[in-house]
Amino acid sequence: MTPTMNWASIDRFLMGDAWVGSRIADHLQVLCGDIGVRWAGTKGEQKAAQYVLSQLQSLSLREAAMETFELSTSDCNAASIRVTGYDDWQADVRPCLFCPSVNVEAAMVDVGFGMPHELEGLDVPLNGRVALIRTEFEPFSEPRHLTIRLRDLAARGATLAITASSRKGRRLQHMSASDWRDGDPGSVPLPLIQTSVEDIQCLRQHAAKGASVSVQVSSEFRTETSWNSVADLPGDLADESIVLAAHHDTTPDSFGANDNGAGVAVLLETARLLAGLAEAENVRPGRTIRFVSFGAEEQGLQGSVAFVNQHYGQEPHPRFMLALDELATGNMKGVVLQFPQQRTLIQQQLDSMNEGLQCHVLSQLDASGDMFPFALRGIPASFLWRWRFVGRHEDTAYGHSSSDTLDKVRVRELKEYAGLLARLLFRLSHVPSECWPQPPDVTEIAQRIEQERGAVFRTM
Ligand SMILES: [Zn+2]
Repeated sequence: MTPTMNWASIDRFLMGDAWVGSRIADHLQVLCGDIGVRWAGTKGEQKAAQYVLSQLQSLSLREAAMETFELSTSDCNAASIRVTGYDDWQADVRPCLFCPSVNVEAAMVDVGFGMPHELEGLDVPLNGRVALIRTEFEPFSEPRHLTIRLRDLAARGATLAITASSRKGRRLQHMSASDWRDGDPGSVPLPLIQTSVEDIQCLRQHAAKGASVSVQVSSEFRTETSWNSVADLPGDLADESIVLAAHHDTTPDSFGANDNGAGVAVLLETARLLAGLAEAENVRPGRTIRFVSFGAEEQGLQGSVAFVNQHYGQEPHPRFMLALDELATGNMKGVVLQFPQQRTLIQQQLDSMNEGLQCHVLSQLDASGDMFPFALRGIPASFLWRWRFVGRHEDTAYGHSSSDTLDKVRVRELKEYAGLLARLLFRLSHVPSECWPQPPDVTEIAQRIEQERGAVFRTM
């Protein structure tokens, strides 16, 4: 730590301004109220990226820009599930991300969790039929990833699979059938259609009687433009940076308050605090702090993939990257690294803040967020504790749905996040270059991905 810094005064400025000068409620109102749904490639997403850019520009950061990238996107125009001969009833329906169009009328087979022993034991062939599958893990066996179970069903000739949402009360959620570690979110192993907990019961009863189901999905696939908004707060070390990121896009039906209006609001607020420190107190970061808001996280991380490709072939890699996502799930508890090398360094900086924050290392590379494309490049990437960890709020349960609205977000907690993150990033910006451990080797990372592919994400 640089000895000439007056850390007590810096911390007092950052926490004080985080509390009394906060713009978090305004950012949330614009993103989740005025703009609303921000499915990448639409006008709503463009407005959100423009708003983020205008806010970064208002802080007189350097190189503020809205960078475009080509997005592979899809829309579901219509979908229905009907039981043949039971004409007055329709099941709740939500096709998975990138679900192709389907037009199927076939008998249903309940395949349980779709585990190999269950498929072996079926007394009817799956060929040409609709599988009813439970997407959670079968509790008595080695967990098997859903993508692999869907491939097993496809190999046996199933035409599509229907599953239930994990939430009661007819709450449907945006879901993905592919494993993002495979690097191709658009490849769906088998069309997967979600219905509600309530309606899957009805379908199972009809399946037991040998009834057929008629499933229609009308999807449209297109190429669109999406946007990443970025700006730098320059530091004294010209070639060195750390990155704070969030994603501003949402699922197609969501106002995205927790996921991820909360993360974007905290990103903008952390930028405001650090820019304010530089301007009001003339205390500047040691290395550049880059703030970036990605598009298309919900569509297979296409924004962060484009950003990494555009910037980190030529430019020096950042020392550290932190992704903010779903910050309404609980107050800030610490940082979760993708690689162990930086653990001691990060924990030392957290300890110097004296707030009881912890640094952990996840035993798997996590492909479910924007830290993943950075990690693949060998950039030390991390995220904040989310639903995998204890101490979460109930409000974590509403993500990827139309229920993810502003009432799920606690502005006071987000103020605290911004103050603590500003203190942490400012400290990290001043850790001398020679104190940073070597980043992980990209060949080893590729091998790790290969070993972990198909493995089940840890949950907690
Ligand atoms: Zn998210």
